[in-house]
Amino acid sequence: MESNSKAQALGRRSFLRHLGTGALGTLVGGFGTERWLSFWSSTQEGAPPLPLQGRAVEPVTYTTSSGIRIHNVQTGYVAVKSAHRLYTGSDGGGIPAIAFDRTWTEWMPINTWVIEHPEGIVMVDTGESAQAMNRDYFSCDPFNQFFYTAFLRFAVTPEDEIGSQLEVLGIPTDEVRWVVQTHLHSDHMGGLKAVAGSEIVVSNVDLNSRTGTLPCHYPPGFAPTIAEFQPEPVGPFTTSLPLTSDGKVRIVPTPGHTEGHQSVILLEDDVTWFFAGDTSFTEAQLTANQLGGIVANPAENRATLARIRELCGDRPTVYLPSHDPESRTRLLKQSTVNL
Ligand SMILES: [Zn+2]
Repeated sequence: MESNSKAQALGRRSFLRHLGTGALGTLVGGFGTERWLSFWSSTQEGAPPLPLQGRAVEPVTYTTSSGIRIHNVQTGYVAVKSAHRLYTGSDGGGIPAIAFDRTWTEWMPINTWVIEHPEGIVMVDTGESAQAMNRDYFSCDPFNQFFYTAFLRFAVTPEDEIGSQLEVLGIPTDEVRWVVQTHLHSDHMGGLKAVAGSEIVVSNVDLNSRTGTLPCHYPPGFAPTIAEFQPEPVGPFTTSLPLTSDGKVRIVPTPGHTEGHQSVILLEDDVTWFFAGDTSFTEAQLTANQLGGIVANPAENRATLARIRELCGDRPTVYLPSHDPESRTRLLKQSTVNL
């Protein structure tokens, strides 16, 4: 009974947070986005400047025990307000806390992953587009434009984009068989156009959400595959969607950051690779049970983190969130989570 009303309260707060985002969009749209942006820019200190020339970081590769090659491809950097990265207070601050926070995080990587499985190449997320540096990039979606432009900073060059990085790796884009979108926020789907011919697997819930989702940036004729989870458990995850017929590469539902968030697992005999997306910003947040400052559903996000920790307790697991500066090193050292 008690936990029921707690769940209801969390549901209400999640609803209010969504309402807050919607109201912000309407308010901003009504008064003119450019005017608001100028106002906010005048009150906010920006993230530290980066010299932007060429590729930020070269892709790196690790070969697993069964010979599967995993590439880490960093498509530039993102910085957010400090209150955005870390959940503060009893229910996080949500959008108001982010709006009034004047401090920014350091530049964090925008990681994507390329898994060369014998049955085909799997990509996890497509990163950000260099066009995100241009404020007008988001103007095709007035509902989300303000959030992306006022509360996020991007540092992405054309060389950082997924298309040019696949070229560096010698992987023709038409050889990418599957692209799994952990979710559809801009910094995870900005490279979709480069791999538009692949089978793109998304969550139905996120596809139909307007919060942070930018349909105007989908490739022409965008017709993704909807992930439908099967009753095939992986440790504490009661359902999963196998991508490869050997069952090694699977999608699991990891809701919370967005209502339909999903992650990719590569099951090897010695180690489990967990391509997390935005379940948390860092591994430290996973082990300390800390949420990001703005999540669609805090209760679901906590349950997801608990499930991932349980998985890490059951078997050695390398945890690879999109924005953790240590993810690349953990790939190269195959370093597993210590609970
Ligand atoms: Zn996100």
